[in-house]
Amino acid sequence: MKQATFFAENEIEWAEVISLIASDPAFQERERCLIILHEANTDEAVIRAHLTSIGDRLPGMMVTGITQISPLDKDMILFKGAELSVISFETSEFRFFLYDCEKLSPEAAAVNFSKELKNIPDAKGILYYSSNVGLNPERFLTAMDSTLSDIPVFGTQAGASNFFQDDSFVFYHDACLRGAIVTVVFSGEDLSVDTNYCFGWRPLGSMMTVTETGEEGIVKTIDHEKATEIYYNYLRIHLDEHFYENVCAFPMVILQGHRYTSRVPFRYYPDGSIRFSTEMRVGDQLSLSYAKSGYLLKGTLKLANELLAFSPEALLGSACVNRRLFMGNEKADQEIDYLRKVCPSFSYGCGYGEILRTSDGGGFLNSTLVVAALREGPAPELPVSTIEESDTEKEESAYMPLADRLVTFLEATTQDLKRINADLQKLASRDQLTGLYNRMYMENALHEEMRKHLTDADFSVMMFDIDCFKHVNDTYGHQTGDMVLKRAAELLSDCLPDGDLASRWGGDEFLVLFKHPSNGSDFAIAEKFRSIIEHADFSPVPGVTVSVGLAGVQKMLEEKELLRRVDLAMYHSKHSGRNLVTIYEKGTCENEMQN
Ligand code: GH3
Ligand code: MG
Repeated sequence: MKQATFFAENEIEWAEVISLIASDPAFQERERCLIILHEANTDEAVIRAHLTSIGDRLPGMMVTGITQISPLDKDMILFKGAELSVISFETSEFRFFLYDCEKLSPEAAAVNFSKELKNIPDAKGILYYSSNVGLNPERFLTAMDSTLSDIPVFGTQAGASNFFQDDSFVFYHDACLRGAIVTVVFSGEDLSVDTNYCFGWRPLGSMMTVTETGEEGIVKTIDHEKATEIYYNYLRIHLDEHFYENVCAFPMVILQGHRYTSRVPFRYYPDGSIRFSTEMRVGDQLSLSYAKSGYLLKGTLKLANELLAFSPEALLGSACVNRRLFMGNEKADQEIDYLRKVCPSFSYGCGYGEILRTSDGGGFLNSTLVVAALREGPAPELPVSTIEESDTEKEESAYMPLADRLVTFLEATTQDLKRINADLQKLASRDQLTGLYNRMYMENALHEEMRKHLTDADFSVMMFDIDCFKHVNDTYGHQTGDMVLKRAAELLSDCLPDGDLASRWGGDEFLVLFKHPSNGSDFAIAEKFRSIIEHADFSPVPGVTVSVGLAGVQKMLEEKELLRRVDLAMYHSKHSGRNLVTIYEKGTCENEMQN
């Protein structure tokens, strides 16, 4: 495999690049060559001219690529021309797939693609490009057959010169397309593909939950507060023309599988909503985050050194311009330099969001630098040298700026508070004597289960009360009574399946929530528990027994009614001689109570 990457800032340079490739002996077997083109220019005529010249001068070579995003502010320097990378494969294959999403939904495209992918032996990696900011890559990625998740998907969504007048394109052979997805599958017994990513932002402060969203990446509320309030409350960032610059060092981070990724708001609205470049869902957990350019660069250096051992013959990447906005041009260039030390022909694009989905999770990322390294055959057994931190970086990391020390302090304090909070939560939710959940916790859990039940599976509750417990207290004393309660709670916990919740409801009364009562298993557990108590050793107290009631949840049942039913069922056991399990039955239990 050989990769060469060229840059052309104008048409003269472009013609030279094409001539160089045409005469390079490494790229003569044209049908084994793949061209990846990153165009800073979104002018369709210019791109078409480039694609046509490739078709004319390099016939047989397959082409894909994307348009790049424009600089986000006046100081940002992005390469203005075309970056063309050509890779020739010796033993491995690549196959192209094109989906026109103006005719086919991304979900249908993914199903289609998954079928094709299953027929490609030794598929090792998938390059994904799509155009149009509204065509969220998450839709394709999540609809792909999950059994194929060990084949990594990497790439980017094409950039536009303006988010609101989306002029992004994806290239396929000689066509320049809107609303399309192109995938390239790399395969071969001999082929190794290694993917990785750099992030560098660290979660800061507590976890929050998205509570209301709108269309196309709009988040209306977080933890039921206006989304913009989060930035004002924690960072005093005002809603003015500096909003974006101020928040870009503090993006929101979410965990996707094992990967942290950020979501950068790029617009706010007077109603307190914020808009992200990617879709957010109600229930997504996020927190604010902080980074300094040093963290980001250190991460990239680490990744570069890891890649060295892989010894790539070709290196592809996608980098978020948010990194450049945050780090400044010099450091952003340094990041790319580290990767060029691994593979001088490293080729990368900057679009709206990066893509990396592996068996570890991930998907549509933001603020990251994603890389995919390719190699045919085994890695050469050369002694692997290491890439050193640049001199400027060395100098900067010797001194820890005040802001960094403050963030470290904040991180440590947050950890302390999280620990204390967890302890307090445990204390507040447990019954001191038995260690089971207390009534308050159980009432909330029941409420939550009721809410879920509207859409989800059935559940049931069991209530039991120790028989003639007053007699235990009166005969053996309160302490022995306590021992009986504790022992009964232990025996209960031992016989409950994982996931079911047990609580002390009050006095000698207990309530259990069975989350998955399939085909009468709740009755079997209740009966087993009753029998265990009957035969257990509570010495010095002989013959401890319990009376048990069971009630299941059917459609549209209110919490109060469920509790009334389980209570009636338990009293039915008491009235029928104790040491029994009764399942609530409409009529029988009620009539009994009236008598
Ligand atoms: P029944 O079979 O009808 O349930 O009769 P019972 O004697 O068990 O009557 P009941 O359930 O009403 O009695 C509950 C008793 O439990 C009354 C109360 O003194 C005792 N009790 C409540 N909390 C505790 C506790 O924490 N420790 C001890 N030792 N006793 C408690
Ligand atoms: Mg009792």
